Amino acid sequence: MKIVLASNNPGKLAELQAMLAPLGMDLVRQAELGIGEAEEPFRTFVENALAKARHAAAASGLPALADDAGLCVDAFGGLPGVDTAYYGTQFGYAKGDAGNVCALLEQMQGIDNRRAAMVSTLVALRRADDPEPLIAVGRVVGEITREPRGSGGFGFDPVMFIPEQGQTFAEMPAALKNTLSHRGRAVRAMAALLRERWL
Ligand code: IMP
Repeated sequence: MKIVLASNNPGKLAELQAMLAPLGMDLVRQAELGIGEAEEPFRTFVENALAKARHAAAASGLPALADDAGLCVDAFGGLPGVDTAYYGTQFGYAKGDAGNVCALLEQMQGIDNRRAAMVSTLVALRRADDPEPLIAVGRVVGEITREPRGSGGFGFDPVMFIPEQGQTFAEMPAALKNTLSHRGRAVRAMAALLRERWL
């Protein structure tokens, strides 16, 4: 089954594709179909993921899958949350992973509570007016390191330390990250829903 992925992030495509291929799902990025990015005006992950999936389904005529992910830091009352992708821009950095990581380490200087969760919310729609979106949430709790470690993954992976594993996500092989990560958990839950409801 061909599904349009409402994201242009190559890191996400690779991770989602690897985990959904066994179900016979073939993901195509919306940019490959000439579809632009949706607005994400909401304050919750689920609302933004639904808006992105609906936009991609409407523009492509295909079933759509969207992921809205972010970092929720305990010491910041759960922020940056839905603003994670633009986090560094609040502190003068260009949008992107490097600026986000620098800004986070700066803002957490002197803070001892390093607990943070990466959260992934996936929404799948059969079509834009599907009254029964499939919704799957995954989260992983870790600790923000004091300096980046490792070169794998993307986003906040070099500063997201998983105590049970003794490594950051960026130090893990991709398959191990997929097993432990917020997105891995959300995708497994989504795969179960897809099997039960769509296949
Ligand atoms: P979005 O869902 O693409 O808007 O991602 C929100 C933010 O979370 C971006 O800054 C991503 O880099 C970051 N992010 C999303 N997934 C991951 C991940 O698996 N590891 C680290 N950072 C991530």
